[in-house]
Amino acid sequence: MTFLPFFRQLRSLASIPRDNAPLLIAQFEAFRHQMPLMYLVLIANTWALAVTHFAIAPTWLSVYVPCAFTVIGVQRLWRWTRAERRQTSADTAERALSRATWLAAGLTIVFTAWALSLVRYGGPYAQAHVAFYMAITVIGVMFSLMHLRAAAIIVAVTINGAFFGYFVLYGNSVFRAVSVNVVLVSGAILVILMKNHRDFTRMVEARAENERLAHLDSLTGLPNRRSFFHELDATYAAAVARRKMLAVGIVDLDGLKPVNDTHGHAIGDRVLSQVGERLARLVTPQLRLARLGGDEFGLLVVDIISTEALTALGEHVCRMLREPFIAGDVNIQISASLGFAVYPAHCATAAELYEFADYALYSGKRNRRGSAVLFSADHHAAIRRSALVEQALQMADLERELTVAFQPIVHVATGRVHGFEALARWTNPSLGSVPPDEFILVAERAGIVSDLTFILLRKALSTALRWPHPVRLSFNLSTLDLASPETVSDILTLVADSGFDPSRLDFEITETAIVREFKAIQSAASRLRALGCGVSLDDFGVGYSSLSYLHTLPLTKIKIDRSFVRGMHAVRTSYKIVKSLLALGRDMGVETIVEGVETEDELRALESAGGELSQGFLFSKPVEPEETYALVEVGLLPGRGSANVS
Ligand code: C2E
Ligand code: CA
Ligand code: CA
Repeated sequence: MTFLPFFRQLRSLASIPRDNAPLLIAQFEAFRHQMPLMYLVLIANTWALAVTHFAIAPTWLSVYVPCAFTVIGVQRLWRWTRAERRQTSADTAERALSRATWLAAGLTIVFTAWALSLVRYGGPYAQAHVAFYMAITVIGVMFSLMHLRAAAIIVAVTINGAFFGYFVLYGNSVFRAVSVNVVLVSGAILVILMKNHRDFTRMVEARAENERLAHLDSLTGLPNRRSFFHELDATYAAAVARRKMLAVGIVDLDGLKPVNDTHGHAIGDRVLSQVGERLARLVTPQLRLARLGGDEFGLLVVDIISTEALTALGEHVCRMLREPFIAGDVNIQISASLGFAVYPAHCATAAELYEFADYALYSGKRNRRGSAVLFSADHHAAIRRSALVEQALQMADLERELTVAFQPIVHVATGRVHGFEALARWTNPSLGSVPPDEFILVAERAGIVSDLTFILLRKALSTALRWPHPVRLSFNLSTLDLASPETVSDILTLVADSGFDPSRLDFEITETAIVREFKAIQSAASRLRALGCGVSLDDFGVGYSSLSYLHTLPLTKIKIDRSFVRGMHAVRTSYKIVKSLLALGRDMGVETIVEGVETEDELRALESAGGELSQGFLFSKPVEPEETYALVEVGLLPGRGSANVS
């Protein structure tokens, strides 16, 4: 009875950790490195003993048996050496380890029997050699088997038991003493091996825990970006192999940045972790979720039934995230946009699948914020086109191919030119004329937009230098220009060196730019103002949460977007919006320019709403630099807009 717990403990010590896959694999890896060496030692020792017994023992014992051992040993050696190169799964590790245990038990019995059967032959030296063989082999083999405790224990017990029993019964006092020594040393080695194994287990477990943490996002507890891409590669390979559909979805929150700005990052973090919790409710074996970083979450959807089901899932996600969040005592309302791409419909690699989902997201954010967008053939065509444009842009002689067109900004009451907005034009030998909103976007994405800005600004300033006082120049800057303090410095230097009066120069910045890079844009705007330049807020009203930014930027003008002007004579709400924006501008002490006036009706409505400065095709389309001088002289009476189109 008292032995039972001891044996149970021994069994648990000796067993293979079947339910711990990382440990099983680590143990197997360590174990297999030692096997070839063990078999080499075994074969060498065996032949050493065989040689000293050639002349004295029967041939079958001193030659045939060692030959058989050698064949088995070489075969095992060969197997283990080959196994080095193979990847192991927990299953194969388990099978190999339990096979190795049985084999160790079998071989030990045979080797022990062989060694003991040699004791009868020869004198004391030869007998001593057998004892030495058994003692040294048991130690060598136990060490080699340290990662397979079961086998180490079997070897120790079998060899020592036989050795001790045999020599105590039949040996003289020298052999008895030797056998006691060997048993003691083996016991000590076993203790060391057990301790060693405990350390090994702890190390493997710590490594597994680190590995687990390295794949988790600390804020939401969801798998992180690294884990997402890992999973993406694996599910993609599986989808290809099984010819199944796979979708990648990227969820991006709209409006988290303003939450961080107004309520602080602690509140922003709480919203993020609640977003994580809501999304986690969707997780099934078919839908996996990760936080990709910032306010982006990734979805992997396997076994999709149809694209309709996918779109429905996307709409559900967007609806879920439109529900208000409660963080502390604030109630926060944000929304989310989602982009999906599907294998095999859209892509040829896992990276492309992700990239296309990102593209769908990005296009959704521009056109249909707050909804789910599925990657489409149009998107594909747009990607190919921007790749083409980017390539042409990279190779272009920009100094020659870029030109500037000028569209007058007019005092509506008098028709006098208040100033001109410089608009970029690019005519490429292979692509022809490319619209500015297209190539500016591509240049921004390729990170070369500032190169374009400098060329365009230099050209615009050289035309503007010949305009009489007080005709002004308006110049569009990209977000990326403003986000880089070095670029802003270079722009300031360029202006100062041009000889054009900085107080007649306005820089136009767009609202979307401000939302993304608020701090940087605020400081850039202040620096431009410090030189004496004006700062205009372009396309006012198309973004959102605009009003909160108006107060915090040193603006001198706002430009009301042309979407409000379209049909303002007929649509009451448009009229009211323009009228109140004009009033807002007056209150803030900034000038207001109304863009995109195309018809006499719109102009009349604008005048009645109180608009003073305007820009639009009704007055003039953008014109060539040389034509600006005449326009400055004669002014622009409505309806007699310049016929020159550029
Ligand atoms: P934007 O800054 O809003 O420029 C005004 C755009 O409205 C110009 O288009 C102009 O031709 C167009 N426009 C003016 N009056 C009317 C009108 O009555 N009706 C209509 N439908 N459109 C009118 P454009 O030249 O094609 O420029 C498009 C956009 O490209 C610009 O919008 C601006 O965002 C960007 N862009 C143009 N030049 C530059 C530049 O030098 N640098 C940067 N960063 N962006 C530029
Ligand atoms: Ca503009
Ligand atoms: Ca504009």
